Amino acid sequence: MFEKRGTVLSKFEELANEFKDLHGAAPRIFSAPGRVNLIGEHTDYNEGFVMPAAINFSTAVAVAGREDRTIVIQSDQFADRAELDLDKPPSQGTHHWSDYPFGVAIKLEEAGCRLRGANLLIKSNVPIGAGLSSSAAIEVSTALALLDNSGLTTDRLELAKNCQKAENEFVGARSGIMDQFIACFGAEGHALMLDCRSLESTPLPIPDGVKLVVCNTMVKHQLAGGEYNKRRAECEAGVRVLSPHLPKTASLRDVTLADLESYRAELPEVVYRRCRHIVTENDRVLRAADALRSSDLQTFGKLMAESHQSLRDDYEVSCRELDLMVGFANEVEGTIGARMTGGGFGGCTINLVAADRVDAFREHVSARYTKAVGRNPEVYVCTAATAAARVQ
Ligand code: ADP
Ligand code: MG
Repeated sequence: MFEKRGTVLSKFEELANEFKDLHGAAPRIFSAPGRVNLIGEHTDYNEGFVMPAAINFSTAVAVAGREDRTIVIQSDQFADRAELDLDKPPSQGTHHWSDYPFGVAIKLEEAGCRLRGANLLIKSNVPIGAGLSSSAAIEVSTALALLDNSGLTTDRLELAKNCQKAENEFVGARSGIMDQFIACFGAEGHALMLDCRSLESTPLPIPDGVKLVVCNTMVKHQLAGGEYNKRRAECEAGVRVLSPHLPKTASLRDVTLADLESYRAELPEVVYRRCRHIVTENDRVLRAADALRSSDLQTFGKLMAESHQSLRDDYEVSCRELDLMVGFANEVEGTIGARMTGGGFGGCTINLVAADRVDAFREHVSARYTKAVGRNPEVYVCTAATAAARVQ
């Protein structure tokens, strides 16, 4: 919101005005949230459990129809505009930011949705590349805008899957369904426990008076991509050793800690520890869900701490900056839980913090981190927000 000649314009009205100036028509506006994952890290590609929440940082897309079959797009985050001819769709992205929305348009058409041409204008406050899923936010908001503009509707799960396809096949990023799913199904004041095998989800209330505080280390180590693929391969290696002993084991999701201990001797030490992280992390997500159901924040915080230790020691995807940030968070009275979130090797931590302690938290963690690392962290104070929708 900002003041202008005595009136207060919402960010959507502001976007609508900018759109009118550019294209001369009043747009419809669709918005989709970013997200943060509270617990359940690296479990998605092992068919396990995750617990994301949609957040009050979002991407809005203004749309109005065109007479041709061209999509013209601009974003407040980038200077250049891009065009897509729906009758000559490329098969691959070009490493341009527009790959995400254009990938969505192309996958929707491949799924049988005949789209009309559209002018699109994007406005977002989801930090890009910080691990809050600006990518799913732009995908899902664009999908809703393009479908509405074409007089079409689709099932939300199909929509999430189409957006994931756009990211996997057109952009070329190997990501699970979590980000698009929570953008489509998030519920205000709630996290969702998502079963990445069945895609069933359970809403879990975040107690009033608790903020989801994300701290960005502002570092991303080069290791991230290669190590991610290595972890996936190590998990698969674990399943190959365990499955002959444990019929019906299709993924680490099916393995218990007792199973793992029984066959420990057959696993290389590193593979054993990788498997132990996944098996214990799945169990932590289930226990964290129980804790939220009974508003037991103390247990939830303890599980977050255990998750961080397991990611650091068994899965080895943390780094000095993430460990420092978690340590500084734990020094603040009012911190309920703190851990790294996302793939690791930099990026963000997620902290559950008592609302009335958020200012003290921000001050303490920022000062300590800046002194230790020599960089100012960014701190995003989030609440659990609702799913993507038409907003104007
Ligand atoms: P994140 O963790 O934010 O999802 P990704 O690397 O998965 O990071 O996605 C970021 C990319 O998504 C950007 O580089 C850009 O191509 C695209 N993107 C996200 N938000 C926007 C936006 N508001 N406008 C244009 N492109 C965007
Ligand atoms: Mg992303």
